[in-house]
Amino acid sequence: MSQIAAPLLEVAGLVKSFVQRPSLAARLFGAPTRHVQAVNDVSFAVRRGETLGLIGESGCGKSTLGRCVLLLQSPTAGTVRFDGTDLATLDHHALRRMRKRMQMIFQDPYASLNPRRTVEEIVSLPLRIHERLSRGELRDRTATIIERVGLLPSQRDRYPHQFSGGQRQRIGIARALALRPDFVVCDEPVSALDVSIQAQIIELLRELRREFSLTYLFISHDLAVVGHLSDRIAVMYLGEIVEIADCRRLINEPRHPYTQALLAAAPRLDRSGPRAAHLGGDPPSPLAPPPGCKFHTRCPRAMPECRTIAPRPTRVAPDHHVACHLYGGAA
Ligand code: SF4
Repeated sequence: MSQIAAPLLEVAGLVKSFVQRPSLAARLFGAPTRHVQAVNDVSFAVRRGETLGLIGESGCGKSTLGRCVLLLQSPTAGTVRFDGTDLATLDHHALRRMRKRMQMIFQDPYASLNPRRTVEEIVSLPLRIHERLSRGELRDRTATIIERVGLLPSQRDRYPHQFSGGQRQRIGIARALALRPDFVVCDEPVSALDVSIQAQIIELLRELRREFSLTYLFISHDLAVVGHLSDRIAVMYLGEIVEIADCRRLINEPRHPYTQALLAAAPRLDRSGPRAAHLGGDPPSPLAPPPGCKFHTRCPRAMPECRTIAPRPTRVAPDHHVACHLYGGAA
């Protein structure tokens, strides 16, 4: 991946909040409607041809961010530009055309595959919706992608329940790539699989990236998985990106105490960088995030100002940004 490649995706100031209404009984006792800020003022770019890994603990907002990027969920605020176009300015038809170029691979292939459809029907559905192909062309395009992801032509009349987890993820990948997209959000695509199968699927995604000139946003809670495929990595905590850097640099020279703690807890990565104590406790609830730096309740290096002042992203090296007061990131 060229370091000077132009951005294919640009996200600026993206916010996604959900309204959480109390039950009727709770309302009778005066419980208020609350707002959950799943994604809070996130900005980043993904360059054409690169893989940006997005890492963070479960519930930190990374999957919501991935869905907002594809407008599968509407952002509350902020902009998403794809190939130079602000997606919010597109009408229904233009957005539909743009969506052909932006696809998603889901975490749970079984839940995302219609159990009553055969593999051929599942994989060909996007082609039938978006492209006008003859019956023969449809069959050929479907067969080509099914075989390319490692399934046998004889398996195309089978149903999802007749496949293993790894094979089902191959079906999900074939469906995502059937329209030959430019950009794919991979949302925890291997986290439901055994480690040996994970390696095969990651290798397949790597091959397909090269072959189809794909750009990935690769979401995972597993730093080892993200590290295998990513050019750069963004680290997310409680709805915010706290560090973003070149993959090797982030792994060898993590700056944010949260990234350092994630690395300290990751069993399969090079640990030559600075060390920190393992993460203690659970992240605070997004319903009641702490003021100041959201990580201060778990940070071994927290200072008084961390409790009241939110740090802003600071450039600590070329292509390396950190949101932490240790590096002067005052709001
Ligand atoms: Fe820790 Fe303070 Fe940095 Fe937050 S801003 S990560 S609490 S040192």
